[in-house]
Amino acid sequence: MSKYWSDLAHRLDPYTPGEQPKEQGLIKLNTNENPYPPSPKVHAVFSQANIDDLRLYPDPESSLLKQSIAQFYHLDEAQVFVGNGSDEVLAAAFQAFFAGDKPLLMPDITYSFYTVYCSLYDIDSCELPLADDFSINLAQYCSESMQDNGGVVFANPNAPSSLALSLAEIEQLLLKNTESVVLVDEAYVDFGAQSAASLVNQYPNLLVVQTLSKSRSLAGLRVGFALGNQALIYGLNRVKNSFNPYPLDRLAERAAAAAIDDVDYFNDCCQKIIATREWVTAQLAALGFEMLDSKTNFVMAKPTGIAAEDLFAQLRQHKIIVRYFNKPRISEYLRISIGTDQEMQALITAIKEILG
Ligand SMILES: *Cc1c(COP(=O)(O)O)cnc(C)c1O
Repeated sequence: MSKYWSDLAHRLDPYTPGEQPKEQGLIKLNTNENPYPPSPKVHAVFSQANIDDLRLYPDPESSLLKQSIAQFYHLDEAQVFVGNGSDEVLAAAFQAFFAGDKPLLMPDITYSFYTVYCSLYDIDSCELPLADDFSINLAQYCSESMQDNGGVVFANPNAPSSLALSLAEIEQLLLKNTESVVLVDEAYVDFGAQSAASLVNQYPNLLVVQTLSKSRSLAGLRVGFALGNQALIYGLNRVKNSFNPYPLDRLAERAAAAAIDDVDYFNDCCQKIIATREWVTAQLAALGFEMLDSKTNFVMAKPTGIAAEDLFAQLRQHKIIVRYFNKPRISEYLRISIGTDQEMQALITAIKEILG
């Protein structure tokens, strides 16, 4: 606290990211990073980069990257917005579409950045509780009393619940909720859920947000994007060009385009992670853990015979970091990112040792 802070700075409740330890030799399963390196085509961008070009500003339109993304999703370049990480894309979207006087609808358990942005941008929110099985009940969002909303935001698959909604369920919501923007955050969609990108041409109020941080192994590069109707994309650009006009840097744009273009490598990586997830899910279930049906690159696991917080601390002593949330409803679970087969084998061995 400081007398020099604004009221806003006092009021904020900043996001707490997962730990990025400095210590070497840890198995890091706490922030949903991809255990595999980026595509060899990304390596080529950096090894062949012309460093002298860095004296020049980047392309303000990021056209090369938008073309790659548009091609991947069979959309038009004018339906694509790109940003420095999907967190920046979300920031622009919250300001462009949700900063009105009606409440933004969201699940009570979801990506915690949404409420951080609501307090930063002074947006009213209405949190709708997940069902007992942690699923999102979209029918709630279309009920009579929720009709007059200022927008809808949720992650699909949701985090940290790991569960996915079907495309049909999302389309039901879009058919009923036509007067405000529906933002679907698809940070984990490539690990087994269906993308709503295919609905963008039909629903002018649908915004799909994705990131290259997870399924394309580029968390350190900071690239995310949104897909939507041209008018929504135009709105995002208006906001972006009013607070931070600078686009992706020259190398990030080219590396991101290379990652999107390497479809085979991307598919292989996702398939490997899905296979490892299914293996580790079966292993933990066999140890008596309660497992949610994950469609993401992490699992939500409820241990038996030991408290989640205890297991978290003991795994840390075995040099394995997972994520523990000291929050109602999810405090009995651990969120464990999917690493390589070897890392997950080490996790299972450590858990067996801890449980004796
Ligand atoms: C990781 C994550 C993001 C942020 O991704 P960046 O592109 O790295 O900013 C957004 N939404 C959800 C649900 C995430 O899990």
